[in-house]
Amino acid sequence: MTLFERIVAGEIPCNKVHENSDFLAFHDINPKAPIHVLAIPKKCARSFQEVDPSWMGGMTSFIQEVARKLGLDEAGYRVITNIGYDGGQEVPHLHFHILGGTRLAWVDL
Ligand code: 5GP
Repeated sequence: MTLFERIVAGEIPCNKVHENSDFLAFHDINPKAPIHVLAIPKKCARSFQEVDPSWMGGMTSFIQEVARKLGLDEAGYRVITNIGYDGGQEVPHLHFHILGGTRLAWVDL
């Protein structure tokens, strides 16, 4: 079971922002911005690379709802998903980082 499956199951507590039958959003434990929320599908896919594309419509609507709920939709925000080792993914359960609450710097690669 992944860490995030355990959060979905209620075995590990989270600071929940939004939820429906398929998706959950909660605050990141180690925020990288004033607002840093993770949006995940409740059913585990390892990463964006492996997700069934038919889920993505629902995932997109859910992220939009989370951004509205957090008051980020007017000012803007950033959505990131890390994929695999080179992408810096630590938790092998698809998740989208929703970052905002300030003017975000861009990372020099
Ligand atoms: P990744 O590096 O896989 O893209 O991101 C994993 C994220 O999960 C990190 O930003 C990390 O801070 C967050 N995280 C790790 N463990 C926990 C936890 O137990 N609870 C919450 N809310 N976030 C976690």
